[in-house]
Amino acid sequence: MMKAHILILLVLVAPLYAETFYTVRTSIDLESENGKSINISKEDNYIISIIKNEGWQYRVNILDSSGTKVLFKNYKVSKKWFNIGAQPVVSTGGVPLKSEANYLSKNPSNGKQPSREITECIVVVDVNFYSSVTKKIEAGQILINSDLKESIKRVFRQMAKWKFPMKSVFPIAKYGWNDELSMVNNNTSAYNYREVTGGGRLSWHALGRAIDINPQQNPYIKNGKILPKNGAYKPGQPGTLDRNHPVVKLFLREGWSWGGNWRSLKDYQHFEIPGLKQNRKKQGPYCES
Ligand SMILES: [Zn+2]
Repeated sequence: MMKAHILILLVLVAPLYAETFYTVRTSIDLESENGKSINISKEDNYIISIIKNEGWQYRVNILDSSGTKVLFKNYKVSKKWFNIGAQPVVSTGGVPLKSEANYLSKNPSNGKQPSREITECIVVVDVNFYSSVTKKIEAGQILINSDLKESIKRVFRQMAKWKFPMKSVFPIAKYGWNDELSMVNNNTSAYNYREVTGGGRLSWHALGRAIDINPQQNPYIKNGKILPKNGAYKPGQPGTLDRNHPVVKLFLREGWSWGGNWRSLKDYQHFEIPGLKQNRKKQGPYCES
């Protein structure tokens, strides 16, 4: 009797946390139960969720771009097709995020629209990190300039090995592109289309050339003003960076500069690899690779 109960519980719970979402990279053919077929492509901005593994094919649901509403239920797709045309976008605890297209649209918090030349340089990098919440390796995503993709992959691989704790690694779109909200939540993120404080020039974040790590523990401090407002800098605490920290040394070796070394202000969360000066005045080229 006891065994039967445990078995039922496992069956019910397993699919909930195992869910992974995929975005379409090229074009995928799908077939419904009654033989009706549809073709979806990158332009549709749909998110695919696998509901069942059936040997040489998958059963999938097609969701809207926010990953919350099911548009097409129970379609079949050949695994071969799927492996070529789909890319995992989310597996962080099954929290639905948005498709790549949504990450790169107009920034609703400031109304600024990045040019196509800029967004073409931004890529989604799936990373693993050691979660300060679950104490396990979790999946996250970083939006970064294609020039810096390999460097970000190396840095995250090493940080995960060291079990450097991070709370979350979500693209800023999860927080409605609101930097303050992302920072207050101690979220690690990179690309955000915005100008520097005070306006005029683009921030290196706008070009995917800067990343903020654990902002609440590694705040921005200028003339006694601290950002985010719940920020507290306590060197020596797990997840907190200082000049002797192996994570800071790792970034420096990769060619990044660290905001903790700046003199006029301290931005302990911030690392950047600047591009061409003209980029900040909205002149390309924005990416080289
Ligand atoms: Zn920053």
